Amino acid sequence: MSDRCDVLVVGGGIHGVGVAQAAAAAGHSVILVEQRALAAGTSSRSSKLIHGGLRYLERGSLGLVRECLRERTIMLSVAPELVRLEQFYLPLYADGRRYQWQLLTGLSLYALLTGFGPGSGFARLKPGAADLPDGLLQDGLRAIFRYQDARTDDRALTRAVMASAMELGARLLMPAELMSAQLGTDGVHARCRMAGNETEIHCKALVNAAGPWATTVMARVMPALPAMQVDLIQGTHLIFRDWRVQRNYYLENPRDGRGIFVLPWSDSTLVGTTETRFEGDPAAVRPKPAERRYLLSVVRHYFPDTAPRDLSAATGFAGLRVLPSGSGHAFHRSRETLLETDRRRNPRVLSIFGGKLTAWRATAEKVLARIAGSLPERSPLADTSRLRLDPVDESWPGD
Ligand SMILES: Cc1cc2nc3c(=O)[nH]c(=O)nc-3n(C[C@H](O)[C@H](O)[C@H](O)COP(=O)(O)OP(=O)(O)OC[C@H]3O[C@@H](n4cnc5c(N)ncnc54)[C@H](O)[C@@H]3O)c2cc1C
Repeated sequence: MSDRCDVLVVGGGIHGVGVAQAAAAAGHSVILVEQRALAAGTSSRSSKLIHGGLRYLERGSLGLVRECLRERTIMLSVAPELVRLEQFYLPLYADGRRYQWQLLTGLSLYALLTGFGPGSGFARLKPGAADLPDGLLQDGLRAIFRYQDARTDDRALTRAVMASAMELGARLLMPAELMSAQLGTDGVHARCRMAGNETEIHCKALVNAAGPWATTVMARVMPALPAMQVDLIQGTHLIFRDWRVQRNYYLENPRDGRGIFVLPWSDSTLVGTTETRFEGDPAAVRPKPAERRYLLSVVRHYFPDTAPRDLSAATGFAGLRVLPSGSGHAFHRSRETLLETDRRRNPRVLSIFGGKLTAWRATAEKVLARIAGSLPERSPLADTSRLRLDPVDESWPGD
């Protein structure tokens, strides 16, 4: 069997479905191949925040924060059933690593970068004045900062974007694994395995959106592309089924200063995340016992009377961040998305490394701009910043 398209997308995570939607909206023929299920990788294992990333301000990543906040505003408008604005509480303690003025400056900048749009309001509250019913630690509490960010269900968002792409004409092959890709003068000849059979797909441009598998996919391209040096950093979340907080908290681990979110999630509490270097098959990533103990110690510290005493009722999941290789601690490394192409002009292969769930639409636009020279002229069908995204139910044929 053989097929043709303008854009072949490898990977049905948020980046892959975003590129499929953007390319289909630009009028291109699109095929997306996903080896397992939509959002089977990192895109169902995130902290599920559609946020600017308050802590990225400390590193001076203003461009990233501005872009994410702009996307947050767009998502609130086009996906009101999938993305909602919520209050977050950030307590400041006497022995904390940050000063009040730093948090006030950061939150003011956050509001400024939102363009004082939806979700830009924040407040500094006196400890007794905040309505926090979850038993938050009071010893040494100096102030509580209340600000706003958005939350989503990452898997549901990914499925909704794919449904939108399919409405625009994109096709989904699943389960289908890209096995090899031969670069030619007129594009790429890809071979995919689907239900035990090989399918050939000829495309003008191949977008490698395979997340933690992106280097594996790159290695399947012939002639060989220069290898990309990346680290996989595991992030674990715990779900405490016997405990449900009523507010969203952004806490600082007293031991190492890392930011930890404690969030209500259905009838449970979601706590994350860790950052541990990972090696091996990305499909094998699982929460490690040390990570589970680390997260338990944070909730025991901040909610001494209410948090579970042990991990007996805790489940969890782990995902992999793709970060440029480096020796520094992962927490301090850039979260900018890297786009690598086989050649500068008219690229035939583009690989996406890293990135944010929040910025998926902006990333997809950048991808389209980079491969535009390789694609035929088409008449655009839609503007993705205005396309409504609705949840799709479990019986949706895309799965
Ligand atoms: C712990 C953690 C927390 C995070 N929290 C947030 C957050 O709160 N907010 C935020 O904005 N961002 C967050 N991020 C970042 C965000 O989740 C990721 O950037 C995003 O989900 C990556 O999506 P992706 O499409 O690149 O990769 P993935 O979601 O991993 O998708 C890759 C897909 O490619 C498929 N695939 C691989 N190889 C092949 C092949 N050969 N053929 C076919 N298919 C293939 C896989 O099956 C997989 O489905 C977080 C990341 C982590 C790790």
